[in-house]
Amino acid sequence: MRSLMLAFVFGLMVAVPVMAQEAPVAKDAAVVAAPVAEVANAVIAPENVKNIVDPVCKMKIEEGKAVTAEYKGKIYNFDTQACADKFLAEPEKYLAEMEAEKAAAAAPEAEVKK
Ligand SMILES: [Zn+2]
Repeated sequence: MRSLMLAFVFGLMVAVPVMAQEAPVAKDAAVVAAPVAEVANAVIAPENVKNIVDPVCKMKIEEGKAVTAEYKGKIYNFDTQACADKFLAEPEKYLAEMEAEKAAAAAPEAEVKK
């Protein structure tokens, strides 16, 4: 019966955390830990995509206040941790949006459709 109790308690712990609306993020963006080579896959140093616009809320990111998140070996920048969390929840969705916008901005006339 004890295992049932544990499962219940664990379930509570996994429950959705309360979202802080305006959590003051005071992280040192400069501190980037070296990637731990735990995974047997090829370890590639994450590359910062240096996006200046938050892909989630589309706001311009203030210099020095960027919150970063890593996804598939790339580092993306956000204005708040909340946006970074949203991105990590649905990265493919936001990446698709980013690609579409980048393509539209970079090549307004080039029509590369294949
Ligand atoms: Zn944002």
